[in-house]
Amino acid sequence: MTVCLYNDDAYMARFTAVVQSAEALRDGRYDIILDRTAFFPEQGGQSADTGLLNGRVRVLDAHIHEGIVHHICDDALPVEVAVDGEVDFGHRFSHMQQHTGEHILSGLCSRTYGCRNVGFHLSDHIVTVDYDKPLSEEQLEHLEDLANRAVWDNLPVRCWFPTAEEAEQLDYRSKKEISGRLRIVSIPGIDDCACCAPHVHTTGEVGVIKIMTVMSYKGGVRLSILCGQRALIALRQKQCRLDQLCRQMTCGEDELPAVLEKRDKELKETRLHATQLEKELLIRDAREARGRESRLLRTENADMQAMITAASCLCEGISVPVGVFSGSDETGYTFCLMAAGGLREFFAGFRKALSAQGGGDDRLIRGKCAASWTEIQAYFESVQA
Ligand SMILES: [Zn+2]
Repeated sequence: MTVCLYNDDAYMARFTAVVQSAEALRDGRYDIILDRTAFFPEQGGQSADTGLLNGRVRVLDAHIHEGIVHHICDDALPVEVAVDGEVDFGHRFSHMQQHTGEHILSGLCSRTYGCRNVGFHLSDHIVTVDYDKPLSEEQLEHLEDLANRAVWDNLPVRCWFPTAEEAEQLDYRSKKEISGRLRIVSIPGIDDCACCAPHVHTTGEVGVIKIMTVMSYKGGVRLSILCGQRALIALRQKQCRLDQLCRQMTCGEDELPAVLEKRDKELKETRLHATQLEKELLIRDAREARGRESRLLRTENADMQAMITAASCLCEGISVPVGVFSGSDETGYTFCLMAAGGLREFFAGFRKALSAQGGGDDRLIRGKCAASWTEIQAYFESVQA
């Protein structure tokens, strides 16, 4: 069994140990086992510590299996030789802030709203917590207030191994049946929870606890939270994006929703106006085409209502079918065909020759086809001939 130094001292970043084994793995990395370690291995939903051995061999990951910690490294080390270990403490401390913050939140959630914490995930990028009951916006805000009050009260955080008798007396939270030695993390008046991970000494070190996102999850709720430095970095990034948006809109932060709403309204009106202009243009083109006795009209981006109006214009005074096509050879065409009657018979041949799809009646058929403009023109000419 590896002696796990992080159990008794979460702040130990440097330690010495003796290499027990160093095995080459298939992926080119090495599995190094030490007699003792300060590297916290991945467990209980928390990802592993990283750092260095002897100042040069990088510890990329760590796992625990049957009480033995496996350090996954980028190089080998000689066996039975003493090494210096150095945990990346910035990384570790961030994990400690997130994890203690989660205990505060989950302890209060259990005490205040009777929610059980049924899932936890802590990696370098995200912290999620799952509770077994839904929580309203007001409840979550209340919870966030209580949790931050517990941070500002700067309460002691005690990680300890109770005796069997002590454990018997203790009402603690636990996600699963404990195998092996029971370790409890206690925050007076807030929480007692079975946990194997390193924690900060006092709640004040958590800095701040912020609920970032909320989603329904398995009949309960999944929160993503940020604590301490991670919350500061996220806030800084958000402020940066907000400032950029305000510069773009040339307004203050408070005015942003109203300015965006106004911009949105203007955009809708402009689009409506553009559609109207396009329709007028298409009808003008249709009149010109009728003057040339053309039965076909091509446009790039017209809506169906405008195409039908244009087709009616083309159709005036002639008995043969006419067609208005919108699109390009690359994207294909949507079309509307129109005639005084007998259009279905015309469409049977049209569909076959130009691999078209569509439907309608003897006077109007709408659809789309993948044929080129040249093929469409050739078809109309062949039918007329
Ligand atoms: Zn925990």
